Amino acid sequence: MRDALAILDEAEARLAPLSLASNLAWWESQVAATEENAEKRTRAELAWSDALADRELFAAVSAAREPGANGAVGRRLELLHNLMLTRQLPDDLRGRIVELETSVDLRFSRHRGLVGGVEVGDTKIKRILRGSDDPKERREAWEASKTVGAEVADDIRELARLRNEAARALGYRDWFALSLSADELEEQKLLDTLADADRVTAEPFARWKAVLDERLATRFGCSVSDLRPWHYADPFFQETPPDGAVDLDPLVERKDIVALARRTFDGIGFDVDGILARSDLYPRDGKNQHAFCIDVDRRGDVRILANTVETHDSAMTMLHELGHGVYDLGFREDLPWLLRSTHLVATEASALLCGALSGRREWLELVLGASPPEVADLGSKLEAARAAELLVFTRWVLVMNAFERALYADPEADLDTLWWELVARYQGVSPPDGRQAPDWAAKIHVAVAPVYYHTYLYGAIVALQLTAALESDAGGIVDRPEAGVLLRDKLFAPGQSVRWDRLVEQSSGSLLSVASLERAVAHAT
Ligand SMILES: [Zn+2]
Repeated sequence: MRDALAILDEAEARLAPLSLASNLAWWESQVAATEENAEKRTRAELAWSDALADRELFAAVSAAREPGANGAVGRRLELLHNLMLTRQLPDDLRGRIVELETSVDLRFSRHRGLVGGVEVGDTKIKRILRGSDDPKERREAWEASKTVGAEVADDIRELARLRNEAARALGYRDWFALSLSADELEEQKLLDTLADADRVTAEPFARWKAVLDERLATRFGCSVSDLRPWHYADPFFQETPPDGAVDLDPLVERKDIVALARRTFDGIGFDVDGILARSDLYPRDGKNQHAFCIDVDRRGDVRILANTVETHDSAMTMLHELGHGVYDLGFREDLPWLLRSTHLVATEASALLCGALSGRREWLELVLGASPPEVADLGSKLEAARAAELLVFTRWVLVMNAFERALYADPEADLDTLWWELVARYQGVSPPDGRQAPDWAAKIHVAVAPVYYHTYLYGAIVALQLTAALESDAGGIVDRPEAGVLLRDKLFAPGQSVRWDRLVEQSSGSLLSVASLERAVAHAT
């Protein structure tokens, strides 16, 4: 057997430039969506994924690794193993999965539902569900959001079969189990945490939703028992409805959102000028319409793509993405390439923590310069809005996770019926009468970002834990450089030299638990 250190050094020397090239190509393809950039990106990603598929290297890494080992070498082997694991498929199987994923993804982006005989996209459907008072139009919009499901459902079942075949070839029960293992998530711990999350949110959610339902019944002139999915404000009831939300847009009108973000991080002791200088921050034709942060080289080239406008949402997005960015800049100098990275739960926690600052009283007052009476008036409303958001989101993650677990346990099951059982149980939404349709398949994540939703919930929970720890140890976060020091030393600096769950424990003072979620949702109504 070759020396573990030699295997690792060689692997890093080969992977680091391919990763850099593929990150750069991805960035270029997002800031300018040209054919040429798309081709370059495909080539770079192929080279990267071919290197990760290398059977000989994977065999050497597997032989050298001792699962669960700590220490720099143990962690590097573990991370490299997990990075390569999902690429270790027979070539024909890998090819069929990629082909099917691409084809489903394409049908999602090309598909248009019909409302009043006119083709509508997702944005229009969302606008109707948020604004329209006409139940008939709402129902049509909701139905239109589901028609893509029937078009892709058979292929998603086929994808689940293929993914399972791949997972079993690697010795796992199914794709669900393989995905968790590659992300270093323990299945039993996840199921227990989700059951706990169900327990602590069920009652406050029911209470909050009863108030919402009364309001909706009045608005649409029906009884509460007549409410159906199209009465809620988005196709899956995964977001809080706009009625009852707090409108902070007037406070950021004519403000420089980027300057506010810089000021926020200055106050915590983080210099984000370098990130901002390399970033692409404002809307423009031909660029990605969303936002993301990317660590291009794991050596300080961190960039953000955003579409900043003068809204409070934009301010939150900037803080969120910079929350990823300062993490990537905070790794200890001496860490080797494999460890200069973040676990999804940890980086999402940092981003959510920073993004949530924009809804805190101290931020409105100290950074935005809102007057104390203005802020006092908003305070409890903001807390209630945040709690409602957490409730709606948690219930939705419970649906997604239970559904995907069932999908991979048996792709042939009656998924149409199961979906509505889960929606009724966790979200308290009644299906349309006599509904028989693959409505689950209309959620694009099931096809192209499988077994992932729980990561967001874990991230949200860890963000709450970290916030509580910083409040007690640094007296808060906004304009508290001590909070920045704690974040950097305890969360960012170790990179992935410490497994994510231990990192959570070290940085927040306790293991991941729903206690913080339970406290946060108590303020919902
Ligand atoms: Zn994020």
